[in-house]
Formats: sequence, structure tokens, C-alpha cells
Amino acid sequence: MNEHDSELIAGMLENKGYFLAEGQNDADIIVLNTCCVRETAENKVFGLLGRLGKLKKQKPHLIIAMGGCMSQQEHIATKIKQRFKYVDILFGTHNIHMLPDLIDQAEEQKKQVIDIWSERKDIQEGLTVKRFQGFRAWVSIMFGCNNFCTYCIVPYVRGREKSRQPEDIIKEIKELVNNGYCEVTLLGQNVNSYGKDFNPVIDFSDLLIKINAIDGLKRIRYMTSHPKDFSDKLIMTIAQLNKICEHIHLPVQSGSNKILRKMNRGYTREDYLKLVKKIRTAVPNVSLTTDIIVGFPGETDDDFSDTIDLIKDVEFDSAFTFIYNKRQGTPAAAMEEQIPDSVKISRIEKLIALQNEISLRRNNMEVSKTHLCLVEGPSKTNANLMSARTSTNKIVIFQGNKELVGSLVLLRITGYGLTHLEGEVISE
Ligand code: SAH
Ligand code: SF4
Repeated sequence: MNEHDSELIAGMLENKGYFLAEGQNDADIIVLNTCCVRETAENKVFGLLGRLGKLKKQKPHLIIAMGGCMSQQEHIATKIKQRFKYVDILFGTHNIHMLPDLIDQAEEQKKQVIDIWSERKDIQEGLTVKRFQGFRAWVSIMFGCNNFCTYCIVPYVRGREKSRQPEDIIKEIKELVNNGYCEVTLLGQNVNSYGKDFNPVIDFSDLLIKINAIDGLKRIRYMTSHPKDFSDKLIMTIAQLNKICEHIHLPVQSGSNKILRKMNRGYTREDYLKLVKKIRTAVPNVSLTTDIIVGFPGETDDDFSDTIDLIKDVEFDSAFTFIYNKRQGTPAAAMEEQIPDSVKISRIEKLIALQNEISLRRNNMEVSKTHLCLVEGPSKTNANLMSARTSTNKIVIFQGNKELVGSLVLLRITGYGLTHLEGEVISE
């Protein structure tokens, strides 16, 4: 989501006459688009700001702007005002579109410009987006989140759910297809609650049906799906529509009912397992990935065992695993029974070892199967090979021609690693 916001920022800057610099030292303006979901990301930003302060001393005309989720938090904005006075512009998540005006103000006033809105007023349509990739595009379908999971800062920095009008989404995707894009990833913190703020309601299934009908579009992905809002109607829609990829990112967060309740996730372990069963029955080849947090306040060894059991039971294709991290202002940060770091670390190590075993086993099961894959470009690890993606969102490395980029090829899987498959071309 933030990367897509960066595409928007880059588009606005290009419209203003800027072009991409080779590196920090060549830049006239540096925009930091920040994330505050976990503390490590925040610490990196402060480290970078420190280095940029030195650069600014050498290049006083350099404009430094900071936006994104970190700026949206009051204590961070105060810190920037007081301790990082050389940051020229501070803007938030709800007024990205104001950046060009804020740059003008900073140039005129020669003092720190701060503009942070508490809520998004209207959804800004028609902004220029500089797409970083040639044939896959991100398309926001909604902003914000209403769920208030007790560990999560997102609702506080991204505001309440606001869905884009379906006509605007369809128009954007049609334009993308006209410009050669063949895959879209629909973005929202909880895409399953798309349209709940409309009257009459157009839900996510209805939107998918409309998008699936767009001529020339080959693949549709979406994230993130919240388990509590995954309706039977949506499962049937996904199963029936031919362009929807066979991959669902379905964050479970924990396998313990006690912890799920404390997290305010709105489902039980049993609900989740039932949902997985329904999805796998309707979409047999689906790949499932998830997010898991370990060390949430009050998580006992038994609660953690419940998570381990659930992972063994579901056998996710892969998982993003996180150590619980206190976020100022969220209910969980004030909960008692915070878990010591040593326990959190030992739990995450166990979890990662188990998931790696499962991921390897699942990748092994792919050998000798065939997949229609979208070719993305040279492999990141071996420039002589090409990299493509299955509908199930697995990377396949294969010997192929650079001209294949952006097209669908049929590959037979010949080998595997932890995070990729190896394949050979059957037909182009
Ligand atoms: N909207 C998405 C995810 C948003 S944040 C969803 O509901 O699934 C991405 C992931 O970061 C979350 O799924 C969660 O696993 C993790 N996360 C969020 N807050 C966290 C925290 N305080 N500590 C550790 N992990 C966190
Ligand atoms: Fe955060 Fe929960 Fe909203 Fe996801 S659904 S963004 S985890 S509050």
C-alpha cells in the first residue's frame, strides 16, 4: 500500500517537473514515505533522517519531505518539529495530493511546513501515478480500516474505511489495460468490507465480477482479506471467475481463541479452520498465505502451542511472522502480561522453522505440475534466468527469453527452494 502511495508521490513530482535522481546525493528533493506498523521501520526512518541532516548541511537547497503513517502520529510529528527542524515538509496519509502545494510553500516560506489532516475529506481521483512496474499494477479500492485489532496502529493513522466508487476503479483498470497492463492487485486493509460504506451496497464480490469482465485484463489479485468478512458469496465468486488468481492472503494472527479475542479479530480458531476448508473445497488449487504475531500480551505456552497446531493443520504455503511490538496508543500496548523478548524470540524461531519445513514440503509437491505463469523479468538472484509468477503467487525461475516479459507462459516445475520454484518452458 505504501509502495503504491510512493507511485502516486512520484507521479505528482514528475508532473511538477522533477525526474528520478540516480541516488540521494543527486536529489533536489527527498521524500520519505514512512510506515509505523512496527518499531523497526520507524527506527530506520530516524536513522535515515540523521544521515539526511548531514547531506542537507552540504546541500542547503535540498528539500526533505516526510509523509506516510509515521507523520500521522502526534508524538512523531512533535519529535520532527522539535528535533529534526531541517525536515522541510511534514505531511500525512490523508493529504498526499497536497504535496506539490506544500513544496511551493516550503520554497516560498523557507520554514518547516506541517500539514497533517485527521481524516481523509474526499477520495482524490485522477491523480497521475508513476507505475514502477510495466505490466502489473496496484489499484487501491478502499482506504482506512474500521477493525481496530488491539495491536494495530493502522486505524489510527489511516482513518475509517472509505471505498472508491466502482466506476472510478473500473475506469482506472480499463486505462491500465489500454496501456499494456495485464494484472492488477486490488488494495485495501480489508478488501472484504469493500462497499460497506455505500448505499445501496456494492460488495467486494460485485466489484470482482465487474473487474473480471474487463476485456484484455488477464489476472486479478487482491489483498488483504480479513477472515471475519469472507462470505460464502465471495468464495463462490472467486471460484467462478476465471481471472481471479488462486491465492488468498488470509492473516490468522494466532491459533488461540483467548488471544484472538484479546486481539479483537472477530473470529475463533474454529471459524478460521472452517473457512479454510470451505475455500479449499471451492478452489482446490488455492495457495494460502498468512500473517502471524507471536508474543501478544498474555500469550502462554499453551496459546502458542495452539498457534503451532493451527499452522500444522492448515499448512500455509508461506507465512509472514512477526514479534508483537507495542504501538503507542493501541489498547494492547497498555495490556498487562507483556511477554519478555527472550520468550518472543524463542517462539518466533520455532514458528519460522516449522513454516519453512511446511513451505518446502508444499513447494516439493509442485514438482512435475504445470502452471500458466506471468513472466516478470530477469531473476533477482541469477540474471541469466527469467522469473515468472504462478496464479498461486509462487515465483518460478526458468531459462527463457527476455521478450517473454509481460506474457503468460506454460511452465513445468522441475525443482524448488524455500521461496521459489524452478521450471522449464512447455509453451509460450
Ligand atoms: N490489514 C491487514 C494487515 C495490516 S498490517 C490485515 O488485517 O491483515 C500487516 C501485518 O502486520 C498484520 O497482519 C500483523 O500480523 C502485523 N502487525 C500489525 N501490528 C503489529 C504489531 N503491533 N506488532 C507485530 N505485528 C503487527
Ligand atoms: Fe490492522 Fe486489524 Fe485493520 Fe488489519 S484489520 S489494518 S490488522 S486493525
